[in-house]
Amino acid sequence: MNRPQYIERMIEIIKRMPGVGPKMAERLSYHILKMSENEVGSLVDSILKARHIIKSCSICYNLSEHDPCSICTDSARDCSIICVVETPQDLIAISKVKDYKGLYFVLGGVLSPLDAVCPDDIRIDNLIKRLKSDNINEVIIATDTDSKGEMTAVYLAELIKKIGIIDIKVTRIGYGLPVGGDIEYADEVTISRAIAGRREM
Ligand SMILES: [Zn+2]
Repeated sequence: MNRPQYIERMIEIIKRMPGVGPKMAERLSYHILKMSENEVGSLVDSILKARHIIKSCSICYNLSEHDPCSICTDSARDCSIICVVETPQDLIAISKVKDYKGLYFVLGGVLSPLDAVCPDDIRIDNLIKRLKSDNINEVIIATDTDSKGEMTAVYLAELIKKIGIIDIKVTRIGYGLPVGGDIEYADEVTISRAIAGRREM
């Protein structure tokens, strides 16, 4: 017997989400069907509200209810340091580290020739514009420690040197983070050590 088409449709949509395979999509779909109408209503409502209200900060590209976001408008922060991350999730992970008081920039991905992701596909131009206009002394490159993250870090460091922004020190987080590690899932202590142990590129 075939599944009812509406269940099939739910599974198809959920399956497209990152990290969700067909089995997980099936489990989640049947779980949603068992939820009360109120619970389903809250789920749908929270997704729609987030979709409508959350925007990208025009300075750092963090996701926020306000533009500029609360980090960019926080006068207690050190405006001379920018930490470059891949995703808003990475920014959240690093923002839990109390000893980092600088600002951020979300690249929106990393370079990946195999997936046809080139410099124009991520926010490298926007980053360079910001480095040229703001008074930045240091850029901490906090992309993941996998091969794409490393390649992007090297590309950025060389680009920043090449365009002649000589006053900016480019550093790379490192010590303590496992090779191939995802910053989003690293714990606070590990990230804190990785930032403290950053080395100049
Ligand atoms: Zn911001």
